[in-house]
Amino acid sequence: MANEKIILTGDRPTGRLHIGHYVGSLRRRVELQNSGLYNKIFIFIADAQALTDNMENPEKVRQNVIEVALDYLACGLDPTKSTIFIQSQIPELCELSFYYMDLVTVSRLQRNPTVKTEIQMRNFEASIPVGFFTYPISQAADITAFKATTVPVGEDQEPMIEQAREIVRRFNYIYGETLVEPEILLPDNAACLRLPGTDGKAKMSKSLGNCIYLSDTAEEVEKKIRGMYTDPDHLRVQDPGKVEGNPVFTYLDAFSRPEHFSLYLPEYPNLDELKAHYMRGGLGDVKVKRFLNAIMQEMLEPIRNRRKEFEQDIPGIYDMLKKGCETAREAAAATLDDVRKAMKINYFDDAELIAEQVKRFKG
Ligand code: ATP
Ligand code: MG
Repeated sequence: MANEKIILTGDRPTGRLHIGHYVGSLRRRVELQNSGLYNKIFIFIADAQALTDNMENPEKVRQNVIEVALDYLACGLDPTKSTIFIQSQIPELCELSFYYMDLVTVSRLQRNPTVKTEIQMRNFEASIPVGFFTYPISQAADITAFKATTVPVGEDQEPMIEQAREIVRRFNYIYGETLVEPEILLPDNAACLRLPGTDGKAKMSKSLGNCIYLSDTAEEVEKKIRGMYTDPDHLRVQDPGKVEGNPVFTYLDAFSRPEHFSLYLPEYPNLDELKAHYMRGGLGDVKVKRFLNAIMQEMLEPIRNRRKEFEQDIPGIYDMLKKGCETAREAAAATLDDVRKAMKINYFDDAELIAEQVKRFKG
């Protein structure tokens, strides 16, 4: 149906989900799901993509599929409203990727900034797996297979969506209007675009071990916050401190709301005043971290509790995923059908082609 609004997004099962995923994409997905404004919502666990840089550790990927599914449900994704599925169960995606590969050059992939940083992060250098190098193409297949119009993701995904849009334009130019160009939907709060790690590194990432997980216990969360990187020059309470590049303040930008002040830190009317005091000097890290901890605990407790409930019915979750895969596969197969028709490789259903050839060989 034309003008449908369709969401597609997902996560790699390389670990449990963390608060960066939550603010970067997950929280938004749940809001969009419940807004009723979208005709279809597809959320997938990208196990095949995770293998592109974890080929020696397939068991890690396999184990984390259920962890990601539990995190989804705990955060409020609802399988009656959103189709939740596993990427590897949709073989149509491979076929689409195969055709899209012809529409992208090696130098275009080499210029992709996300791939560049990820290659560095993973120390791949000269030994980049082909599958990893080409994952932007398979990601374009993931998006376009579901005719997604809207892709809610963190900022690191921007070059991926751009690559998908280019593939769509090129495909449609060659074969006629078939695929839908997706739009990225970034978090509207700047701190959420790319949440830094607890170590102050640019991105909280499962692969870097600098994460606060949605399923961490209250004690783990508290310990991680206590040990967080702050301004290294803020040695004594009276010293002036920096809030820029200080992840404790970035987390407050991402998670604090005005009512948190009256609840947990009534001496300050708002975040600006708290920051101003820190910058002037006279405000210790411990106090700010305690405030952050109170906010994080309030947010994470219900998620953790819901997760525990879902953990009681693991077979039920695999069953939900299986149904999701069936629904997703139908949608992807319909798109693949359109693609094959557009490419005119549906030889045996194409009566016109056969008639044409008959004429050619008679003449
Ligand atoms: P990996 O290290 O295996 O790549 P990851 O932590 O980067 O894992 P992904 O599964 O690659 O997680 O990303 C899933 C989604 O979460 C994407 O939309 C991505 O933009 C978003 N995301 C991941 N990390 C952050 C972050 N630190 N801040 C904001 N969004 C994030
Ligand atoms: Mg990633």
